[in-house]
Amino acid sequence: GCGTKELQSFQKDEFVLGTRGQIRVFSTSQRRGNATIGKAFTRIREIENTMSTSIEGSDVYRINKNAGKSPVQVDPETLKLIKMGIEYEEITGGVFNIVLGSLIDLWGIGKDWQKVPPQQEIEEAKRHININDLEIIDSSVFIRDSKMLMDLGGIAKGYAVDEAVRVLKNDGVESGFINLGGDIYALGNKPDGTPWNVGIQNPIIGKTNAIARIALADQSIVSSGDYERYFIEDDQHYHHIIDPETGYPSTNELVSVTIVSETATDGDVLSTAAFVMGLEDGLSFIESLENIEAVFITRDRIVYTTSGIKDKLEILDDLFTIAN
Ligand code: FAD
Repeated sequence: GCGTKELQSFQKDEFVLGTRGQIRVFSTSQRRGNATIGKAFTRIREIENTMSTSIEGSDVYRINKNAGKSPVQVDPETLKLIKMGIEYEEITGGVFNIVLGSLIDLWGIGKDWQKVPPQQEIEEAKRHININDLEIIDSSVFIRDSKMLMDLGGIAKGYAVDEAVRVLKNDGVESGFINLGGDIYALGNKPDGTPWNVGIQNPIIGKTNAIARIALADQSIVSSGDYERYFIEDDQHYHHIIDPETGYPSTNELVSVTIVSETATDGDVLSTAAFVMGLEDGLSFIESLENIEAVFITRDRIVYTTSGIKDKLEILDDLFTIAN
């Protein structure tokens, strides 16, 4: 027909990177809307196939298989992400570490073998998490320590979101929403010109409501917490974010950290890092970074924010209160 075509919403859910992926776009054509979503999921699967620890033949799988033996030629993209990981280790004072695989595997959180490991095994695994044993030689990656393992679980999911966003933008999508297991990107405004309202999930176990919301456009929002991947043993709660210093799941006053930033890669890393740092150190660390904002939630339901985001956050659940 003639006249202006209406924007319509198209959405697809797929299971990717061990989690639920959801992509929504606004398009004038069903064919183009669905095609662009398909391309974005293909991009995410490419990343999964190169960066998964468990997919045989992936870059990370081969790097780990050849630990202590030989350098492994990898995709330029993998190399880029590993280099970023090395920089983040430095920036976060070692709290974020892409070669924590020995500890992550030992705890096995979310896996069949999850259990509290014997202390001596934790001590042993901790001897094999030194980032200086990760070497980059031209376009190859070498783990010098035969017992050290790479795990990009704290960065590659955010990166996959950013890449999916890039695919959508390249296809001319001006309005869309990507959610990869809680790593979210709000692309543009909604078609009506208003920003996306994104909820922050209640971090108390058993609850799924949004406790707050924030208006976002062309920004990512990523949360890390102790409420999603965990197990309970002897009434103790063990989650999947490991403090490299203790070798245990981090323990402090926090139940979640949410990062708002330009890229989901930054958000993925920094939410994990700030969560391990704890409220005080985490807040001052995030405040020191430009264009990064954060929401910290404590076990006693107090919500702390960085200065740049305070006015934008709307509390929806009155069991939670904003600090000061
Ligand atoms: P985040 O807080 O973002 O990150 C926590 C994760 O980072 C941990 O699970 C661990 O992997 C790692 N980590 C823990 N402590 C640290 C630390 N101090 N520094 C750095 N990293 C740390 N899950 C499955 O169940 N099955 C799969 O097949 C599967 N495939 C995946 C493939 C890829 C390429 C990636 C990136 C992840 C995959 N996952 C899989 C993992 C899963 O989907 C999430 O990435 C993972 O649970 C972490 O995301 P998060 O947002 O929950 O936690």
